[in-house]
Amino acid sequence: MSNKQRTDKKRIVFCDFDGTITVNDNIIALIKHFNPPGWEDIASRTIATELSIKEGVGRMFRLLPSSMKEEMIQYSISNARIREGFQTFLNYCKGNDIQVLVTSGGIDFFVFPLLEPFGIPKEHIFCNGSDFSSPQTEILWPHPCDDHCANDCGMCKTTIMRRYPASKYERIIIGDSVTDFEGAKQADIVFSRSHLTEKCRELGIPHNEYETFHDIIHAMEAERINVT
Ligand SMILES: [Mg+2]
Ligand SMILES: [Zn+2]
Repeated sequence: MSNKQRTDKKRIVFCDFDGTITVNDNIIALIKHFNPPGWEDIASRTIATELSIKEGVGRMFRLLPSSMKEEMIQYSISNARIREGFQTFLNYCKGNDIQVLVTSGGIDFFVFPLLEPFGIPKEHIFCNGSDFSSPQTEILWPHPCDDHCANDCGMCKTTIMRRYPASKYERIIIGDSVTDFEGAKQADIVFSRSHLTEKCRELGIPHNEYETFHDIIHAMEAERINVT
């Protein structure tokens, strides 16, 4: 395998989880499945940006009793499907000295078990936490926004990205949704699908569409990449 990099900067990948590594959005699937009264109102207020992602997700999970913990874990794990080519992509990155961080707005109880087979070091996985010790499910936020972000992200992707300055790193973001957009604006290279593609088009951000991780490998190998 070759890695004909355009710069001598170290490549680093910030890869979303829900709708990117997995085919579906696990939070939405989970909430829809258990269907607690009131979730739809919270979801639409979150989509309308009336509530921040953190508030929206926190409130939706609070509708689910902690006693359902095992059911929630079982449902998410058995329901999720990994997008084609993910393991091959990890191998490609390893072979080319490209660091991969998973930057996910998902929750630990499904993110870690679903990533378990891929051997990604735990410290390279950033996601939200969960606490089932009170009557209602409580989401924990170990990776909040820094002083540069006022979006109340919950898990703040741009905060993680800022630890890898553009002066030293060529920063690649892979994502699918509006929650990846702030990161896409900062990144050198954007791989997008779905809503993230629409948003990039709308605002004129150069992007590379993908459907599977094989598409991303091919583009990176051939250096057929639109750069921001
Ligand atoms: Mg996503
Ligand atoms: Zn943020």
